[in-house]
Amino acid sequence: MLNPETLSQLQNILGAQGLLTDPASLETYGCDWTKTYEPAPSAIAFPKTTAQVQALIQVANQAQFNIVPSGGRTGLSGGAVAAQGELVVSLERMNKILEFNTQDRSVTCEAGVITAQIQQFAAEHDLFYPVDFASAGSSQIGGNIATNAGGIKVIRYGLTRQQVLGLEVVTGKGEILKLNNGLVKNATGYDLRHLFIGSEGTLGIITQATLQLIRPPQNLTVLVLGVPEFGALMQVLMRFQADLDLSAFEFFSDRALHYLVQDKGLAKPFDTPAPYYALLEFENDSAGREQAALQAFQDCLEQGRVLDGVMSRSQTQAKALWRLREMISETISVYTPYKNDLSVRVSQVAAFLQAVDQIVAERYRAFEVIWYGHIGDGNLHLNILKPATMEKAEFFEHCAAVNEQVFALTQSLGGSISAEHGVGLLKRDYLSYSRSPEEITYMRAIKALFDPNQILNPGKLLS
Ligand SMILES: Cc1cc2nc3c(=O)[nH]c(=O)nc-3n(C[C@H](O)[C@H](O)[C@H](O)COP(=O)(O)OP(=O)(O)OC[C@H]3O[C@@H](n4cnc5c(N)ncnc54)[C@H](O)[C@@H]3O)c2cc1C
Repeated sequence: MLNPETLSQLQNILGAQGLLTDPASLETYGCDWTKTYEPAPSAIAFPKTTAQVQALIQVANQAQFNIVPSGGRTGLSGGAVAAQGELVVSLERMNKILEFNTQDRSVTCEAGVITAQIQQFAAEHDLFYPVDFASAGSSQIGGNIATNAGGIKVIRYGLTRQQVLGLEVVTGKGEILKLNNGLVKNATGYDLRHLFIGSEGTLGIITQATLQLIRPPQNLTVLVLGVPEFGALMQVLMRFQADLDLSAFEFFSDRALHYLVQDKGLAKPFDTPAPYYALLEFENDSAGREQAALQAFQDCLEQGRVLDGVMSRSQTQAKALWRLREMISETISVYTPYKNDLSVRVSQVAAFLQAVDQIVAERYRAFEVIWYGHIGDGNLHLNILKPATMEKAEFFEHCAAVNEQVFALTQSLGGSISAEHGVGLLKRDYLSYSRSPEEITYMRAIKALFDPNQILNPGKLLS
């Protein structure tokens, strides 16, 4: 816990309104979306400048207390959890867009800017920021960079990493680094920018970012298809990709749809029942593209790979169809899901799905399983719902026991136990399923270089 002397030092840095210690704030800012851990921070700091962030880190090094960098707290791995008397450093008051360059098509902003704000800013300038997911209205650019967030457009535009042209960070040592200056090309040695992308607040606090904006896609059109079996999903993907550049290829199970209809009142896409659904999106900017999509649909129908389908005819319809995929995470959150975020190479997805499904059927017999995910990227979200009568602790213990088997299978295919949610606290003890001992040793050495006193997010990502 922070002593009164340190608290007053922090107060001096941040000003009267910049430090909160009331119980409600400690509870709110001490946790993320996992809700698995009891929040117990000592105080919440709201810096407004990079100099203040630097001063906080310097005091933490002198007084030897730990800092949890905090964004929109939508993280799903416990990375922003403060459960051990840490100082939470929230970036939410560093929320300004600083510079826009039309010729470079780039925007520089503070790390606390909300993701949807950047999307909106890009649209107002006839441009597009392609990183998107259901939590974009709350997550921050700094948090997206710290987790290298993915989402629903990765198949076409890549992860957050692809959009980051430059960063300003304050390292765990308290040094300010300006990385890559917004350059597209820069072959001058190690690109430290990329070390901070996906570092989950363990190496430094990101204070500013320069992001690449792109040409906005035209007339995005959405198809939802009913698919009879896991095996057919990837064949449908291949058939559509043969003639179209898809900007999304997502999937969800009929049980996910069941909860959307029951709890959110969403309409089914069509009446024909199907165990799985694929959601595809493409840029419908010429007559040829729509024709190609309809032909692919027809072929899949004839080959028995698709049972039924619907295609949006307006942006309103496209948005309504997207809600079938985007609302799943929020809808099932009330059933305390145990989340797995797995990935394998796209070519391995079909085999992986069958094998995981078998494990799930054997080991989760008593539990309800909800599948969805960014299957076009090889990324599957496997959610196990807690039975209403079971205690949370017992449920999580049971799920953790099955983890070993699912993760061993993932490892055997060279896959990842966390495709896009990060490691945080939740997946920390399983890191070795995706990283070799040699890699983990190098990761520890990098952590020691940027944060020698281990004050930034200790115990997250690395044990
Ligand atoms: C409904 C829902 C849907 C989601 N869908 C997706 C999805 O499709 N794809 C996906 O990738 N994720 C998804 N997520 C997860 C989450 O939204 C992302 O991980 C997001 O990038 C987290 O951003 P945040 O600002 O909320 O970060 P936080 O949760 O606050 O923090 C996440 C991590 O980043 C660190 N951090 C935060 N800010 C900084 C900073 N300025 N400097 C250094 N470290 C920092 C924290 O310490 C923590 O380790 C979803 C979450 C929800 C709730």
